[in-house]
Amino acid sequence: MAEKKEFKAESKRLLDLMINSIYTHKEIFLRELISNASDAIDKYYYYALQHHEAVDGLEIRIDLNEEARTLTISDNGIGMSKEELEDNLGTIAKSGSLAFKEEMAKKEEKPSDIDIIGQFGVGFYAAFMVASDVKVITKKAGSPDAYLWESDGANGYTIESAVRDGHGTTIELQLKADDDTESYSQYLESYTITDLVRKYSDFIRYPIKMEVQVE
Ligand code: ADP
Ligand code: MG
Repeated sequence: MAEKKEFKAESKRLLDLMINSIYTHKEIFLRELISNASDAIDKYYYYALQHHEAVDGLEIRIDLNEEARTLTISDNGIGMSKEELEDNLGTIAKSGSLAFKEEMAKKEEKPSDIDIIGQFGVGFYAAFMVASDVKVITKKAGSPDAYLWESDGANGYTIESAVRDGHGTTIELQLKADDDTESYSQYLESYTITDLVRKYSDFIRYPIKMEVQVE
């Protein structure tokens, strides 16, 4: 059975802000998720050295499914335990998100007024700017247990047992339907994603691989 949990109050406020934001640079969600994937691989790298495990094949994968309208980012990094899923994705207490929140409080400006999201990492929750539903499937290195965290952003989240082959994390975004202000369908196009990776994630040390369908 899936456990249903509420987001902490502060996380709820930031989520509302993200989801209802008229901020135009929604595309930065990809930068945030890739940077998290890269951080997770860094952590695995140190873990692997200590545990004498192989460190080859460390990579970030992006998969696009036009039919299902999903964009999936996978890494073979350190992964998360159930407790870490709760702590890391159920609350906002982490660097980038915290800086964003503090700056917002200080300036009392709307995010549309200044490029605040561009200045600070806003982190994982940026996914909800483009996704109506987010699934995180993760398995911590050294642990046999995998978990599925799922949320629509607004109504809390659930955590349940899941299956995953190796250690690492897979984040599946169910993209929103297009509206007057934004084409979310563009994030299903491989050339859009390639451009965004070049623009925001050029400095990432691990290979970022995407399968491109040729017709
Ligand atoms: P920050 O990256 O500034 O810490 P985020 O909101 O981007 O804040 O992420 C919150 C936390 O969630 C991270 O610190 C990390 O512990 C965890 N996390 C997010 N994505 C991943 C991932 N792909 N693999 C492992 N842990 C992750
Ligand atoms: Mg981050």
